[in-house]
Amino acid sequence: MYRPQNLRVPGPTFVPQAVLAASARPMINHRGPEFAALLAGVTRALQDFLRTQGDVLLLTSSGSGGMEAAIANTLCAGDRVLSFSNGAFGERFAAIAKAYGVDLRRIDVPYGRAIEPDLVRDELAREKAGKDGVRAVIVTHNETSTGILNPLKEISAVVREADKLLIVDSVSGAGAAELEIDAWGIDVCITASQKAWGAPPGIAMVTMSERAWKAYERSTLPKAYFDLMSYKTSLEKGQTPATPANTVVIALQEALRLMAEEGLDAILRRHRDLARATRRGIAALGLSLFADEAHASPAVTAFRPPARVEPRNLIRVLRDDYNTIIAPGQGKMDGQLCRVGHLGFVTLTDIVAFLSALELALRDFNQPVEPGQGIAAALRAYGEQQQLAKAAVPSRR
Ligand SMILES: *Cc1c(COP(=O)(O)O)cnc(C)c1O
Repeated sequence: MYRPQNLRVPGPTFVPQAVLAASARPMINHRGPEFAALLAGVTRALQDFLRTQGDVLLLTSSGSGGMEAAIANTLCAGDRVLSFSNGAFGERFAAIAKAYGVDLRRIDVPYGRAIEPDLVRDELAREKAGKDGVRAVIVTHNETSTGILNPLKEISAVVREADKLLIVDSVSGAGAAELEIDAWGIDVCITASQKAWGAPPGIAMVTMSERAWKAYERSTLPKAYFDLMSYKTSLEKGQTPATPANTVVIALQEALRLMAEEGLDAILRRHRDLARATRRGIAALGLSLFADEAHASPAVTAFRPPARVEPRNLIRVLRDDYNTIIAPGQGKMDGQLCRVGHLGFVTLTDIVAFLSALELALRDFNQPVEPGQGIAAALRAYGEQQQLAKAAVPSRR
């Protein structure tokens, strides 16, 4: 039976047919001119989207490998590091850094709330009152486990003012939310192919600023496969140090080509508008949204199912009866949340399809939902955004 899935987890995301087709070709030599051209083109396109003139290095690993590389390449054992966390991915980054033996202090913000720039300023000031040996600040851009987009621009300004190394997990933020690596002064930033980039999993992308390379020079943490200098010198020859996930790089090239056709501004607007429509639709079904609305993520929305409906049961019915795949809560929120992804090559149709499945599934659980109740609210919210956009450019047509 033909049962296309509406894959609405926050990564891996939907991969367009053109992207799959591009990678379905005979293997190429990773030490030949074809791969060199591919790597150069993909690197240039990523620099455009990440708004950086600095290095973007492609690692064959998931995003977590990129996070590990960020730590190993910039720090020393015993370095004082402040790690701000408001979810499972913030905790993961802190755990990785801890495993490498840095002197890490984790500052926890309640799940569902944003990391405020003032908190970062206060904690840096507190360290300054002591020994002030802080070398680096670690922060998550888009906290995928709760659906919060942290105010990274403002946080970056605080960290720049304090002149500390800024390491950012934007695995699920890059390509979905505004991100200015150079203008905001971000030193190391990690993203991954299976998130907003709409390619299969397998490639992590890591940016390195001049400051980050200076930190590399002094860093003594062990690194071998993830030694970023070896990626930089290989890149100059159009290669990677070890065999790359060729096919994923080819897929990424096509995905980036599609993204360039749409344009970064349009992509960010689409994410913002579809995220808002998703939230309005879910709320109209009487469900509570988990994240602080002022910092709601453009990439993923977390919500609580109705009382007496277990998230895992709702998720199972959506999957088995309506071919709609969403994610459960993670870490501390395991068994408490549902999360719907709307990043990458997502369209209004996908959101309407998700909400229609959600409406039907809720009715299966005897919830008082009228058919179309969520969809109507989502379309109304989306329509309002389109009206606003049109009003902003009266000269068009
Ligand atoms: C997905 C994700 C990661 C981890 O990426 P993997 O590719 O699964 O290793 C890290 N941080 C955030 C915010 C993510 O969304």
